[in-house]
Amino acid sequence: MTDFKDYKALWNETMQQLKCQFGTQPMDWWTSLKYTSSSEDEIFIAAPSAYHRDQVKSRFMAHIDTKIMELTGKPLKITITEKQSKKSAKNIVDETKKPAEENNFVSEVPDKTPDPVNVTKHSETKAAIQKNRHFQLKNEFTFDTFIVSEKNKYTFAAAQAVARNLGTSYNPLLIYGGVGLGKTHLMQAIGNYVHSNSDNNIIYISAENFMNEFIESINDKKTASSFRNKYRHTDLLMIDDIHSLKYGDATLAEIFNTYEALHNANKQMIFTCDRPVSELKNLTDRLKSRFESGLNVEICLPDYETRFAIAKSRIKLCGINIPDDVISFVCKNITTNVRDLISALKKLFSYADLMAKPVTLEIAQQQLRDTIVSTKQTNVSTDVIIRIVAEYFSLTPTDLRSKKKSHNIVHPRHLSMYIIRDLTELSTTDIGEVLGGRDHTTVMNGIDKIEKRILSDPTEEPMIQTLKRMIKENYVK
Ligand code: ADP
Ligand code: MG
Repeated sequence: MTDFKDYKALWNETMQQLKCQFGTQPMDWWTSLKYTSSSEDEIFIAAPSAYHRDQVKSRFMAHIDTKIMELTGKPLKITITEKQSKKSAKNIVDETKKPAEENNFVSEVPDKTPDPVNVTKHSETKAAIQKNRHFQLKNEFTFDTFIVSEKNKYTFAAAQAVARNLGTSYNPLLIYGGVGLGKTHLMQAIGNYVHSNSDNNIIYISAENFMNEFIESINDKKTASSFRNKYRHTDLLMIDDIHSLKYGDATLAEIFNTYEALHNANKQMIFTCDRPVSELKNLTDRLKSRFESGLNVEICLPDYETRFAIAKSRIKLCGINIPDDVISFVCKNITTNVRDLISALKKLFSYADLMAKPVTLEIAQQQLRDTIVSTKQTNVSTDVIIRIVAEYFSLTPTDLRSKKKSHNIVHPRHLSMYIIRDLTELSTTDIGEVLGGRDHTTVMNGIDKIEKRILSDPTEEPMIQTLKRMIKENYVK
């Protein structure tokens, strides 16, 4: 970790990052917190009012501490006083009397004659702070902030192994799973780890931006070669959301060539995708086989206990007091993904902030009513699909979810898989879950059987249309 001597620059950087993270609504807590002075292990800050000081202390202190720890690698005591407070005023005067060599800080009070040594130190430190974060990566996406559930232990371990042994063990690493489950977080955590622990060259880009950049580059020879140089000579290339790549696009050939160049040079690649690669329809076979050739790991929806822990850690960062019964209510009811869970919590944070009131269970129920209803609809829809398909074949939903393998049950079960895939956003893993805890390969096989049947049996497609119509009518009721 960098040894920060310029605490004023450090403070300004901390405020800047928190401002980006929390925004300035409904209040800008950051800009008006002014650095006044510091000692080796303490920074003195002036707040514009006692109210401002107390709010920041009670709500954001944990977050400030974490950020400072992240930037410097060591804890520092932060003392916030009201502006004009005697203590901070005295400190400024006392500390500026000391000779510069004895000081580990740059005072707010300007020296009459600028000290060239200090100026150099200052700009070096600024550069060091900037080096400390990678411009394409989110600071908060680290291994430390990722809470590991039982189901995601293996995926997390794989990500850490790749971060520690770039290009040697698992190349490429591909993380797949549904939306909002932490794919980007984990991928960037690898990037952040590599960035803080080495001088390796890192590129993070979404597949969509990669396509756009490539398309912009092809018309001009010079840009085309600088594009190639950039992507084919990096130590770590991370491409997020490869499911958005399009078949027939020249980008696919470019990715393939980039892949070959990096792989031959033992440079690490990491990809994310919203489903297993074998299910991607838009990729060429040779590219699919490359994506699959390293380690493919799935990221799953965390269980209730893990969601609770994620919620707790978010709440701690925001410094807002939310009682456990409210957290439990949110975690039990928001079961779609972590992103939805976090946005539900943000709603409660805003409420507490705007109304300056504690969030009770009743308030949470009222504030999240719509969010929870829309989440439940996704759950109901699979139930409806399974019920309608079962009724159509004079079976019960339990039959479809059971392990029974008789032909009269297997075919309707496959149809349910096919229709759920068609009508919902659920991944094959999720579909397996709602159909009696089957794994995603079973679901993929089931869907595949129906696709083949559509080609060989002319009655299959019309029957699927009928079923879908019945299901949709059922929604409207
Ligand atoms: P994806 O890329 O899979 O759509 P993200 O990585 O963007 O999802 O995650 C969505 C949000 O949920 C982010 O704010 C991320 O930090 C958070 N998140 C997801 N999983 C976890 C986890 N296990 N622990 C902590 N935060 C998580
Ligand atoms: Mg993502």
